[in-house]
Amino acid sequence: MIPLQRQPLPEELTARLLARGERLPEYRGGARELWRDSRTIRRDLSGHLVAMAAGLSRCMYCGDSEGTSIDHFQPIAVAPHRAFDWLNHLWACAYCNSNQKRDLYPVDRQGRALLLDPTADEPADHLDLVLVTGAYRPRTAKGRETIRIFGLDRPVLERGRAQAYVRCRSMLRDLAHLAEQREYAEAAAVTHALAVQPFADVLYEMLRLRTAPRAALVFGAETVAGLETLMGPRFASKRGPIRSR
Ligand SMILES: [Zn+2]
Repeated sequence: MIPLQRQPLPEELTARLLARGERLPEYRGGARELWRDSRTIRRDLSGHLVAMAAGLSRCMYCGDSEGTSIDHFQPIAVAPHRAFDWLNHLWACAYCNSNQKRDLYPVDRQGRALLLDPTADEPADHLDLVLVTGAYRPRTAKGRETIRIFGLDRPVLERGRAQAYVRCRSMLRDLAHLAEQREYAEAAAVTHALAVQPFADVLYEMLRLRTAPRAALVFGAETVAGLETLMGPRFASKRGPIRSR
């Protein structure tokens, strides 16, 4: 999971959301049905969420699968009044949304969410990513519940992150080499490929650690050079984990 920047919606869409929200109290079928009946709104919101998501429309929770639907962070079953609240909408894959999270919404004793919202929290404050194994380790209760509710410890995700780490190191070494040889067009293509690949959390973690004292020892000097190139002005990217720095 990487932090994502929520963009403001166009005024006309905000107005439509407000108008829908106002209909909630008297809508006979309840919030879930009004949401289901709001196809145009859902379609328009989806476009804005896809633009915020990492990579090629990746799920904001697992970062692996393609996102397919709008998830209500605070589920409609728990907070029907937030069904049309833009701040409560995230982009999720079918697995994370329907198989894992469903209507679950753990809270602490004060009623605060024990789930990470990537548009409001810095996931790295709550989760450690072990790059070599691809496993997440909780740093806080919120981190622990996030792993449990979204199943971020599913073996397929851990293997995927471990493989993404191998791929990132190799591509970053390539990038450092290409930049050194002034092959800028190819270097830009590698930069873009890095920025849009699934498991953006792996590259995000590497970027976070690139200035750590032992970074060259752990990643290799060429990989660190690739990370620096990635963050340099020539290859600044607008997408994914690079944008989020
Ligand atoms: Zn997912």
